[in-house]
Amino acid sequence: MNSLYEEAVRVCYFCGSGEFIPHSNAKFWKIVDLNFVECRSCGLIFCNPMPSLDVIIKANEALNIVQVSRGTVSQYRGGKQLTYKLKKIKEKGILLDVGCAEGFLLKGVEDNSHWKAEGLDIIKTAVEFANNELGVKVYFGVLEELDGCGERFDYLRMNNVIEHVQDPFRFLKKANRILKTGGYVWCSTPNGVQDGAVHKTANKQGTVLNLLENHFFYYKPRTLKKMYEACGFKILNSYCEGIKHSLTDFGLVPGAKIKGIFEEYNLDDYKDKKNIKFKFTKEDIEEMRHNASLKNYKLKFDLFINYISRVRLPSVIPVGHQQNILAEKIYAV
Ligand SMILES: [Zn+2]
Repeated sequence: MNSLYEEAVRVCYFCGSGEFIPHSNAKFWKIVDLNFVECRSCGLIFCNPMPSLDVIIKANEALNIVQVSRGTVSQYRGGKQLTYKLKKIKEKGILLDVGCAEGFLLKGVEDNSHWKAEGLDIIKTAVEFANNELGVKVYFGVLEELDGCGERFDYLRMNNVIEHVQDPFRFLKKANRILKTGGYVWCSTPNGVQDGAVHKTANKQGTVLNLLENHFFYYKPRTLKKMYEACGFKILNSYCEGIKHSLTDFGLVPGAKIKGIFEEYNLDDYKDKKNIKFKFTKEDIEEMRHNASLKNYKLKFDLFINYISRVRLPSVIPVGHQQNILAEKIYAV
């Protein structure tokens, strides 16, 4: 294994300030110590030093084995639901799903619209499955290193991705560069104030969490919006949701989440292993397309119920575990 850590940064990824306040401590797969700090100037919370990309890729492959099921039908379903939004933007376009795993969402989009759907992931086995078995186009690697795309895409989807990247400012600038002017980016990520609180809560209780997912950046809603704006985007909509989840993070509701993360997993145990339980035949994939929960009327009804039943607070009131942003590229950076 190469080095476990990147070099520590002296200035904030976003605003360039060099003044950091200690935030919390955690571990990553038991092998890496995570030291979180908060930028005094812009409020960005991040791990310093950052674990190396090599460690992160291995950990993501291991996580893919631990979490056997990656959704599949529900991801395909999500793709079909997404087409209702995409068709309102334009009849035909190109989507990139950043962090698409096995690509079932892409398949759901392509089967149900004239949109071309492509993806990107760092889990090699997932990328191979998407390209070879599912027949969708998925790139291997991180967005920052994606070459030769130009301003190719009309819509970028980033579902729980930006908390996993190595340099969010670089990541968002790259997002700008591969999106057409007037194109959209949809981003969903934990509300950093509340997602970060789970470490602080654990530290106060005398424990250090062992993270399996690489959440190394925590964004306060106002910080994240400023980052988007600084990268050539105009915020069209932003809101927070998931109040119950935040109460758990703050330790106000007994912490099922803390227990879950605290389980002991050793990265070396997953070396060179493959997710053998993850196997689909052509018939399985075909059957998925005719699943009862994928009927148009049912999906539309679900979307409607979601819309009216979810409590969504404008992100100026940053309450709720998850934050969502829809933004439009207004100039190239
Ligand atoms: Zn800063």
